[in-house]
Amino acid sequence: MTYDSSNIFARILRGEIPCRKIAEDDYFLAFHDITPHAPVHALVIPKAKFTDAQDFHTNAAIEEIVGFYKGVAHVVDMLGVHAAGFRQISNCGANAGQEVPHYHVHILGGCKLGPMLSRVDASAE
Ligand code: AMP
Repeated sequence: MTYDSSNIFARILRGEIPCRKIAEDDYFLAFHDITPHAPVHALVIPKAKFTDAQDFHTNAAIEEIVGFYKGVAHVVDMLGVHAAGFRQISNCGANAGQEVPHYHVHILGGCKLGPMLSRVDASAE
């Protein structure tokens, strides 16, 4: 997938659209999801242009990967969700319903989150 610089997270990174920022450094930006699915619902995105998890894990430089995931850990600490438990997920591509084609991690917490997945039809294509 070619990176589309008009996606909404690229626009947030360029300062064209506001966000409720939690933290940032050279490698990541974290902000609150605009449509939260839990009392705590944050998004962490790398500063550089990667379409999804596979693109990031395959093509990012080691320092970008370390910097990003240290950022995720920092945000989890800031949100205070580790002790009670939280969920860290990333949708990748059409089958997972990825809406924004800039790699991002969701951090969800603040309540019991229920099963990881709604039941899917295993026979569906
Ligand atoms: P995904 O379906 O994994 O691509 O998740 C995209 C997420 O981005 C959704 O949870 C949206 O609610 C969230 N989102 C979309 N636009 C914005 C925005 N402007 N600010 C914050 N979150 C957003």
